[in-house]
Amino acid sequence: AKLEQAGSIVFFSERMGLDAMERFYTAQALRHAVGNGELRIYLQSQCDTDGKLVGAETLLRWEHPDRGLVSPTTFIPLAESTGFITTLDRWVIDQMLEMIHQHQGELGDLRFAINISADHFAREDFVSHLITGLHHHRLSGHHLTLELTESVMVQELRLLVSKLRALAGLGIEVSIDDFGTGYSSLSYLQHLPIQELKIDRSFTQDIGGNQSGRAIVSMIHNMAAELNLRTVVEGVETEEQWQYLKHYPNTVVQGYYFSKPQPMDVWLAANLSGKSR
Ligand code: C2E
Ligand code: CA
Ligand code: CA
Ligand code: CA
Repeated sequence: AKLEQAGSIVFFSERMGLDAMERFYTAQALRHAVGNGELRIYLQSQCDTDGKLVGAETLLRWEHPDRGLVSPTTFIPLAESTGFITTLDRWVIDQMLEMIHQHQGELGDLRFAINISADHFAREDFVSHLITGLHHHRLSGHHLTLELTESVMVQELRLLVSKLRALAGLGIEVSIDDFGTGYSSLSYLQHLPIQELKIDRSFTQDIGGNQSGRAIVSMIHNMAAELNLRTVVEGVETEEQWQYLKHYPNTVVQGYYFSKPQPMDVWLAANLSGKSR
């Protein structure tokens, strides 16, 4: 079956049956969600190993009027398969630029990490669109980090490096998200002007368990140190994981053990109060 909608063509295998219809209607509802104001930005704190707040990751939430909260693990892959992800990512960027503009005087060195899908990043107009947004809000990029997955490395190295340099020129930092789960070549990595490796939750979970779980985390830490990169460890849930991680230099932690993602206004009220004036 072939379903055509608003300029994008989505192919579904017959085998997917009802699931395909479900996907089709969800994709349509998602298009309406932006205009209907059903999307919310949540922020999850990131701290250094001294406990100092260094920023937050932006996580998208969809409050569907009938279905309640829809998980991004459902709607992000769907948006990626239809090309609608660019609209979603740009909406998040715009909201964040607006927030940064409003709270400029209270943000100090805080950085907000925004997830960018690989297909969106691969667009020719990715950087220029970002520059337009920054100009519009009269901002530099020094409160922003972009989280890119290893899949961006399928791009030609020269093109990729020139995009990353352009971002660095704007003051924007780049983190490689879900690091270790993809297929990044390590020789490639050393050529990239990036600042951060983000260790995936699946590795953090293994810290409490066997030796090999720890071995991977420690290997990524050592490699990051060699490359002069910071590491962010996501999904820290237990005291045991924290005790293990806090001795690593140049490390940032994020997870339920410290704080859960909160609606943006709640997070701002809790973390910016007292910073103003
Ligand atoms: P991610 O980038 O790996 O984000 C981390 C996920 O782990 C988030 O799930 C977060 O809520 C969750 N998490 C944080 N701390 C803990 C913890 O201690 N324990 C556990 N079990 N989970 C924790 P979430 O919010 O459901 O997001 C899922 C994925 O959706 C993200 O994975 C990211 O890939 C994607 N995503 C979310 N927002 C956006 C967005 O605005 N744009 C794009 N392109 N992708 C997004
Ligand atoms: Ca992320
Ligand atoms: Ca991710
Ligand atoms: Ca992850």
